[in-house]
Formats: sequence, structure tokens, C-alpha cells
Amino acid sequence: MPAFSAPYAEDDVAVARRLMRDARLSPEREARIDATARELIGAIRAERGGLGGVEEMLREYSLSTKEGLALMVLAEALLRVPDGATADRLIEDKLGQGDFAHHESRSEAFLVNASAWALGLTARVIQPGETPEGILRQVAKRLGLPAVRAATRQAMRVMGSHFVLGQTIGEALRRAASGEGRLYRYSFDMLGEGARTAEDAERYFRSYADAIDAIGRAAGNEPLPNRPGISVKLSALHPRYEALNRERVLAELTPRVVALAAQAKAYDLNFTVDAEEADRLELSLDVIGAVVADPSLAGWDGFGLAIQSYQKRSLAVIDWIADLANAHGRRMMVRLVKGAYWDTEVKRAQERGLDDYPVFTRKAMTDLSYMACAERMLALRPVIYPQFATHNALTVASIIERAGGVEDYEFQRLHGMGEALYGHLVADRAGAACRTYAPVGGHRDLLAYLVRRLLENGANSSFVSVAADPNVPVEALLKRPAEVVGAPERARHSRLPLPRDLFGPERRNSRGVELGHRPALDALLAEIAGAGAPALAAPLVDGRALPGAARDVASPVDGRTVVGRVSEAAPETADAAMAAARRGFPAWDAVPAERRAAILERAGDLMEARRGRFLHLLQAEAGKTLDDALSELREAVDFCRYYALHGRRLFAAPEVMPGPTGEANRLSLRGRGVFVAISPWNFPLAIFMGQVAAALVSGNAVVAKPAEQTPLVAAEAVRLLHDAGVPASALHLVPGDGRVGARLVEHRDVAGVVFTGSTEVARLINRTLAAKDAAIVPLIAETGGINAMIVDATALPEQVADDVATSAFRSAGQRCSALRLLLVQEDVADRMIEMIVGAARELKVGDPREVSTAIGPVIDGEAKERLDAHVARMRRDAKRVHLADEVPGDLYVAPHVFELDRPEALAEEVFGPILHVARYRAGDLERVLETIEGSGFGLTLGVHSRIDATVETVVRRLSVGNVYVNRNMIGAVVGVQPFGGHGLSGTGPKAGGPHYLLRFATEQTVTINTAAAGGNAALIAMEE
Ligand SMILES: Cc1cc2nc3c(=O)[nH]c(=O)nc-3n(C[C@H](O)[C@H](O)[C@H](O)COP(=O)(O)OP(=O)(O)OC[C@H]3O[C@@H](n4cnc5c(N)ncnc54)[C@H](O)[C@@H]3O)c2cc1C
Repeated sequence: MPAFSAPYAEDDVAVARRLMRDARLSPEREARIDATARELIGAIRAERGGLGGVEEMLREYSLSTKEGLALMVLAEALLRVPDGATADRLIEDKLGQGDFAHHESRSEAFLVNASAWALGLTARVIQPGETPEGILRQVAKRLGLPAVRAATRQAMRVMGSHFVLGQTIGEALRRAASGEGRLYRYSFDMLGEGARTAEDAERYFRSYADAIDAIGRAAGNEPLPNRPGISVKLSALHPRYEALNRERVLAELTPRVVALAAQAKAYDLNFTVDAEEADRLELSLDVIGAVVADPSLAGWDGFGLAIQSYQKRSLAVIDWIADLANAHGRRMMVRLVKGAYWDTEVKRAQERGLDDYPVFTRKAMTDLSYMACAERMLALRPVIYPQFATHNALTVASIIERAGGVEDYEFQRLHGMGEALYGHLVADRAGAACRTYAPVGGHRDLLAYLVRRLLENGANSSFVSVAADPNVPVEALLKRPAEVVGAPERARHSRLPLPRDLFGPERRNSRGVELGHRPALDALLAEIAGAGAPALAAPLVDGRALPGAARDVASPVDGRTVVGRVSEAAPETADAAMAAARRGFPAWDAVPAERRAAILERAGDLMEARRGRFLHLLQAEAGKTLDDALSELREAVDFCRYYALHGRRLFAAPEVMPGPTGEANRLSLRGRGVFVAISPWNFPLAIFMGQVAAALVSGNAVVAKPAEQTPLVAAEAVRLLHDAGVPASALHLVPGDGRVGARLVEHRDVAGVVFTGSTEVARLINRTLAAKDAAIVPLIAETGGINAMIVDATALPEQVADDVATSAFRSAGQRCSALRLLLVQEDVADRMIEMIVGAARELKVGDPREVSTAIGPVIDGEAKERLDAHVARMRRDAKRVHLADEVPGDLYVAPHVFELDRPEALAEEVFGPILHVARYRAGDLERVLETIEGSGFGLTLGVHSRIDATVETVVRRLSVGNVYVNRNMIGAVVGVQPFGGHGLSGTGPKAGGPHYLLRFATEQTVTINTAAAGGNAALIAMEE
């Protein structure tokens, strides 16, 4: 069976053309769909105010209201907060954002009232301008704080239990077997957030296995498909379920799924693999293909999977599954859903700079695709048992018509949704079957699931939300997807730009690669493999390579492989470069800004065209993983395009200043002269390119000195800039060590220095510049930091674990933005640290050219020694050693986690994969902030909290350069997160920000007395 393969993100218009061709049925059949849909909508509307109290409440507090959003965040966090003080702050914070009291009188449903009571009562006492402390005192006086907290928690629980069948599988089974539950088949789902650690994966495996036993024992005697089942998330069963870990996932995850499936087979249950994110689709199908092929499962028709119609590849997946079923002589159960992660998919495609979205961007296209998939599945019934998961009455009616009845397939609904629709259908049509997807889990586990459901019920694009609204006419709900789309050309959402157009028409986003799409990954790897010729770097002055002390550049990957050869500049060569740059400056400064900008844009395009070569060098010379190398290449491209855009804006034309008549006043910017650009090894392409591009576009001539560890990437970048049209006289390269850098800085012709590196060297440069009896010139320095992240009890541990692992360990911790000091509220610290340590253990340390590697080498022996010494000190001095493994290989350092007894114990930047953790008391946030401030650094800061007031306090209190809230704290994107700090962390202005270029320029005001030649003609001629 060949692996699944389909275009990752096809053009919507092409897909729409195909889908719309077959969308329409005969008028009689369309009329029958209308009639059925009307009947079902009637049933839904008749039930209003009955069973669906929570649905009422969700509509009352819909996501388009402030209260709805506040409620969603409250629901997401409240039940996991262990300490009362934080819970109270969270409640105040969210309830203070809305006008809950106002909702109280408008709805009659009991639950709405109950919740509005619990919420409104609290909200009513919050007056504008009051401080949280003040509110707290008042509320406490009137009700007692515990009462408020209990009422709010209770309201959240009510909402949670509406969507969750039981806290345990036993409770869920009992509920399923009683009352209305008996109308349905069931598929039980064990709630959770996906495994981050091996222990998590093991725990989920056990919980699935126990659930299968319990479900099997209670399954009765009916044959499939009329038997219960279980829904399984592959992400729960493996801590590194990611496309780049394919081999490991296939080796470790497949046997686990086979074991669970075999257990389900023993009870003849329906076993469904849930559908997750688009970038894991191919991986999931690899696993599913391997599981289905396992002989132990032969002869069982209960295995299945979910397919998402919002994905453009959905029809291709159905065909592949049908082939798989045929190949093994099986029938498979296929659940068709529309898809639950739409917002995430859109964001991800934008972040990754993909050519297009893997999902549709108009809801009607998802619906259209759903019908096409349904049709295909119905036609494939000999090998597929179709399961249509939807709460949309029109979708249901269309399927009944297309299927010619209700036989030989089933519908599915989520517990807590669609009761009225399916209650009516199952009672009204003999043979109709519906399965309820029934989440099972404790309150803490339900939060993320609850938020998905709140989004689904509260979004105005969702059928359940509109159907429940009596103000929406039934006709509107009957409009067919093809009709809503209108024409294939309108298949895309008009307000959602393609990822490449994210920054508007003036600046194209850099192009990324979806590494979860195998053809794209293979093509990229082939390009890299084909671009491995040895590299050369030599001093380049006026375009001529000059001799120097030659040496081989060895790769940090193994410390031996020669990546290329560098000739390092002698001090006189540095002088020659300065002199040449000085000669080249006037001509380059005179080049119109528009042309300078166009050259940079060409450089950006050329870099994308030559990506294989750059990625090879980034991996071989700097030891970068594929993911890191690709991000760096994109950043370099973004720098070129961003500075081109701002260069045009700032330098193209003078600014006309206001003034008295008879006079013209113009302010213009021009280059300063010769800029010395000194860049680091940790971003040998992006920072190198950013510095050089900014200086060049501002009209300066540049002498660039790359880090001695990474001259080859820099030389390649200089060649590219020259190819793009930068004159050889405007850009010169002098590879060498610190002495060459010092020689450049000392030179009397230096008009400015742009530097990224250590605080000590920045100070040295500063002193050298100040000591010179020459012009006073700017220094733009970006240095390091003891970057902290604050995590309070409202944060989601899984998200924290992901973000900490990324921030502290990605790029082997060799980013100036990397997280060094994690400050965790003590109430949740044990669990957080445990999860972070577990997640860190799963990161593969090794050769970064293997795609599954997460942590490559540190840059050189010196760095390794320094880190080893720090580790040795910490092993001795730390309060607790949470993680400290050895790894084989000369230049590799495994991730470490040390706990300090007080945060001040970390006094210097440790540039490697070493995380320090300290705990703080809920009431001690101020002390924490003082500590961070006291370090004197101010580069990056992370905050994980659902309490907006806490976030605001932190942001207001600390003037750190880049603050990241509820996400990781590395990977600043050019023009999105302008980057750079102050204090000991640098001078600013921020790289990749709108103020950067100004520092590279001089200003000139020209005042012309236009009345000098006789008189003010313009004034005299002025008309009335
Ligand atoms: C039994 C069951 C099992 C499920 N299992 C899974 C699963 O394994 N994996 C999974 O991802 N989901 C799963 N879901 C969730 C499912 O995706 C949603 O519940 C479903 O999409 C809601 O569809 P609907 O027909 O009820 O609602 P509708 O309101 O008709 O459709 C909502 C759908 O439209 C999509 N949409 C909204 N706006 C846009 C837009 N601008 N462009 C494109 N699409 C848009 C949404 O993503 C959503 O999928 C399951 C649902 C059920 C009922």
C-alpha cells in the first residue's frame, strides 16, 4: 500500500470548481431536503428553553460579547486553580470585564438565571475605577469570598458537566444506559491534553485500556455497528507525536495502538482514531496504515478514523482509506467531521509562511466539501461504514436524501449538543441511528475540551448558534453551501489574506515549508543535500578576495568534518576595507533609496532561491536543526524585505516641514558613512543579514565582520548581496576574531557600529568609540539577558511545558532571547516542573541534520567547557537537580533543569540548554518583579497567566524589551515583534522595528529662502 500523498494546500478555486460541479440535485430532491431540514429545525426550536439550559446561556453570553469571552477564559482556567487567592483574582478579573448583571433579567431559562445569579451577583458589585483589592473587600463583606468562589466554580462545573458524560468511565456508562441515553450508540472519549511526557502517554494508554474493558463488558450483544466504542487521540499516546519524529512514532506508537485496537477487537467495539492537526495527517495515516495491516486485527470491522472535511485533502483521505480497507479485505468505520481546529490551522499556516491554507477559509466550502465527502463515503459503503458527525440540520437532511434513507450508516453528535435534532430524528425515522461522542474525565481535564465547545456553540458561523436564534429565519438556514459560496472564484474568505500576503501588498512574507508534508520535506532535504560543496570565506575588499591566515572550518556537529576554509583578515586588511568603504560611500549614498530597496528585495528573493545552500551551511557550520535553520533563513529574508520597505518610506523623499511663507524647509535622511557590522555565531545569517541590510538601505557603506565560528555563511550572504546588485565598493567582508573587530572599531573613519554579542564586548566597543578623538558616532548594541518567565496557577501546564521546552532548549538554548529563569507559583510548581522535565527528557539530542533531532551541538569547545563548569557548579549548589543527563558526543549538552532556592542565585547569562527554576508565593509577585528588574537586564520576558490584571501589572512594572504572554518567548518575527532590549541587554532601537533605520542615518534640514530672488511671488499670487 503506497503512503498517502496529496497536495497539502491546494488552490481553493480549483477545489471549488470540482466540488460545485456536482453539488446540485434535482429540484424534487432539493425540495425533499428543504422539507426534512425544516422539520429538524422546527424540532430544535421547539426544544428551546427545555433541556438545553446551557445552550441558552451560551447564546446569552455569545462570543461576540465581552461577557462571553470573559466567561470562556474563566471556564478554561478556574477549575484548575488550586489556591483560593489566585482563583479570586481570576474571577474578579473576568467578571470585571463584563456586564453580567445586565443579562439577568433577559432570559427565563433556569440555568441562565442560576449562572447569571452566580456571575451577575459578583459582577454587580464591581464598579468602574475600583481596584481588585477594593472589590474583593466589598464582595467579601457582603457575601464572604468563599461563597463567591464556590458559586462561580459551581457555574463552571454545570457548564462542564453539560458537555461531559461522566467523571469516570463507570459513571459515563451508567448515564449512557439510563433515560434518554438509551436512544444512542456511544463512543467514549477520555479527556486530556495530549501527552508531553512518557508518563503521560503511559497514563493515557492505561486509561484507554481500562475504558475499553469497561465499555466492552457493558457492550451487550448487538453486532457492529450497533455497539459502543472508544475514540482515541494519537497525540495522547506518544509524547513526541510529530511528523519529524516519524520513525520513532511508527516504532513506538504503532504497537500501542495495535494493543488497544486488539483489546477493542476482543469486544468487537468501534475503535476510532480522532482527527487532529493538519500537519499530523500524513503521520496519522502512516500509523493507521501500519495498525490496519497488523494480522492480529484481521477479520474485525470495528476499526475506524475521523476525517475532517475542512481539509482540502479530505476526499483524497477517503479514497486512500477505501484502498486500505480493500487491501486488507476489511470494512472500516469512517467518521466524517467538519473539523475542530480551524482557527489553529489558519494561524499556523500564517506563522509558517505556507503557500496556502490546508483548510478552507469559508465555512460554506467546508460544508460543500462535507457533502462531497459524504457522497463518496456512501458510494464506498461496501468497504466503509459511514458515520456522519454533525449538528447541522441542513447537513443531516442532505445526507438522508443522498443516502436514499437512513440505512447502513449512522449519525454522530457530541454529548450536550444536538439532543433536540437527533431526539426527533431517531424517534421519527425507523432505522435511523445516532452515536453520541461522550467525553469522560475529571473537571481539570475538561477545560480545553470545554473551550472548543464554547467556541463551536458561541461562534456566529456555527449552525447550532444560529439555529437556536429565533430571529434568524429558517430560509437563511436552508441556503445551500454552493449557493452561499456563489462562484468558485469566491471560494476564499475575502478578509483572510494568503500567508504570503499577511503583511499587506508592500511586503511579502518569507516563504516557509510545511515539514509535516513529506513531498515538501523530501524536496527540501534533497536541495540541502545537493548544496554541500565546500565553502570559502576570505576578506573581500572592493570585490577582491585578499589573502589571510587560512584555516579549515570544522563543523560543531562532529568537531571534525571540514565545512570549508576561511582566510582571516590581518589588521592591515581591516584598514584596507575601511578605506575602500570610505571611498565607496558617497556613490552608494547617492543611489536613490528606491533602487537600494529594490536590491534588498532582490536579495531576499535570491536567498529563497538559494535556500538549499544556506540551510546546508547553517546546519553544517552552525549546528542548527532543520527547523531552526529554516526559521533563520526566513528571518533573514524578512529583514531584507522589511528594511527595503522602511528604507523606501524614510529615505526616498525629504519630509516637507511647515514654516513661514517665502521659505521651503525640507528634512531628509542620508547615510552616515562607514558602518561596522559585527555579528554573532548564533544567528550567523539572520543577524548578519539584518545588520548589513539595515546599514546598506540607509545609504551607508558597510564593513562586516562575522563571528569567527561562522564566516562561511556570512561570505555566502555577501556574495548574494553583491549578486543582488550591492556594489562591491559598498560592502566589504573581513573575517577574523575579536582583534580584527577591535581594529575596525578603533578606525577613525567609523561612522557607526552595529553589534550583537556579549555585554562585555559591547562595553568594550562603547569605550573604544568614546576614547577616540574622532566623530561621536552611534553604537547599536544588542546583548544578552537573564530572561525570565513567570507562571501563575491559572496557566495550563501542558502549554507551559511546550513553551518552556521551546524557550529554554530550542537551538540548544543558544539564543539571546532564550528562557533562563522560570518562576513558578508554588501551588502548582511540582506538577509544572514534573511536566517540563518529562517533556525535556523526550527531546532528542544529536546530529542536527537528522530531522528528528531537537537539540544540536553547542557552538564550540569553549562554550561546552563553560556550560559543563556551570552544570558542575549547579549540581553542587542547586537546591534540587531535576534533570541532568549526560549525552554522548563532544560538543553536545543535554537539557538541564536546576531548582534554585532563590532567583537571585542566577547572576549571569548561561548560554546553553540549562533552565533554572525558582518558586514564588501567590502574594509575592511584586518581589518576583523586583528580582527581575534587579538583574539589570531587560531583553525578553514570558508570562503565563489567564489573569489580565496580572499581565498588565507585569508589563507596566517591567520595561523589558520583548514580553510574551501565554506563548513561548523566542523567535521574534521581523516587523511583528521588533526585537531588542535595554539596560544591560542593549541600546536599541529594536531590530526589525520601524525605528531601527533612523539610527543608521544622519538628518539634514535644508531651508531655502524662496523669496530671495526679488520677492515672495507665491504669496502675492495667492488667490482668494
Ligand atoms: C461525534 C463527533 C466527533 C468529532 N470528532 C472530531 C475529530 O476527531 N476531530 C475534529 O477535528 N473534530 C471532531 N469533531 C468536531 C467537529 O469538527 C465539530 O463539532 C463540527 O465541525 C461541527 O460541525 P456541524 O456540522 O455541527 O456545525 P456547522 O456549524 O455546520 O460547521 C462548523 C464547522 O465549520 C468550520 N468553519 C467555521 N468557519 C469556517 C471558515 N471560515 N472556513 C472554513 N471552515 C469553517 C468549523 O471549523 C467547523 O468545523 C467531532 C464532532 C462530532 C459530532
